[in-house]
Amino acid sequence: MRELISLECTACKRKNYYLTKNKRKHPEKILSNKFCRFCRKHTEHKESKV
Ligand SMILES: [Zn+2]
Repeated sequence: MRELISLECTACKRKNYYLTKNKRKHPEKILSNKFCRFCRKHTEHKESKV
């Protein structure tokens, strides 16, 4: 039921985080401000496929 997804930096398009989420409970796309080690700053990260 829980699917593996990744969080991708919207600035450099690199995948920085991996997590699982329940798509039934949370069908919406995740968008959150997280630290990107490639940009070396906080950027918006969006959900994408692993
Ligand atoms: Zn980045």
